Amino acid sequence: MNLQALFEKHNFHPKKHWGQNFLIDENIRHKIIKAADLQRDDTIIEIGPGFGVLSEGILKKAKRVIAIEKDKRLVEILKDRFGDFPNLEIINKDILKVDFRDLKLAKETKVIGNLPYYITTPIIFHLFKQKGVIDFILITVQKEVGERLTAKPGNKNYGILSVKAKFFSQPRVVFKISAKSFFPVPKVDSCLVKLDIYKEKKYSVQDEEAFFEIIEAAFSQRRKTIVNCLTSNFSLSKDLGKKLLRDTNIDFKRRGETLTLEEFIKLSKNFAEIRVSPERNHGFKNR
Ligand code: SAH
Repeated sequence: MNLQALFEKHNFHPKKHWGQNFLIDENIRHKIIKAADLQRDDTIIEIGPGFGVLSEGILKKAKRVIAIEKDKRLVEILKDRFGDFPNLEIINKDILKVDFRDLKLAKETKVIGNLPYYITTPIIFHLFKQKGVIDFILITVQKEVGERLTAKPGNKNYGILSVKAKFFSQPRVVFKISAKSFFPVPKVDSCLVKLDIYKEKKYSVQDEEAFFEIIEAAFSQRRKTIVNCLTSNFSLSKDLGKKLLRDTNIDFKRRGETLTLEEFIKLSKNFAEIRVSPERNHGFKNR
């Protein structure tokens, strides 16, 4: 595919604020398609297909391809280029507004895409909410996001994204991608990451909302101890905060960024209990 020729033919000017950096490296394109391990009866959701650099390869191999592209201009170009493929459906929408339940997916879907980087994290969280219909997520993200997705406790990149990714999936960086593989050349290097969604819940929490609230509180002020993060986020008395941590076998002086996923799960379980049980609820304001 000659991107230059397509730009000229359609008098196309990329929109920076929509994260439009198009893949031009043929070798990387090939490696991404290979990593997708496409099968004949696959349903694929492609996020931000752009000119269809990846779509082209996917369409030839998969049964059903749903391409979600926000830019109307690109939707027209995709129709022009791939109108002959009966297995392609193009949706001209913001991916964050697409509810996968409306897509009538017959089977678990592989989600693929070179993401628009200005909304990488919201897209990943949006996908996690729809995890029930997803087999895996194979996405190009900026290098730093790859590091955050796979960071271990205590690492400076360890945060909400790392904990949630580990809760829902097995995340790994497949390979690195130089900024020069895209046009226009972005300011950052990239990497391909694969998140294999757990088919059956590997980790379980009774109250998912409480679990997410605890994680957010723990990382709300990275320099503070876990007990201070909890007390300031939940208007909890310091004594109750310490007791909660003691009951969970977590030293209250630790920082949130050192807690493992298992510890967050245990902590949220104990937290949910004091929230519902009034007799233990000393000094704790229910919201
Ligand atoms: N996959 C293509 C394009 C990557 S650039 C390639 O590799 O060449 C990112 C693409 O995401 C662009 O086509 C951009 O228009 C699209 N995009 C940006 N914001 C979007 C959103 N909210 N929902 C869906 N697509 C979006």
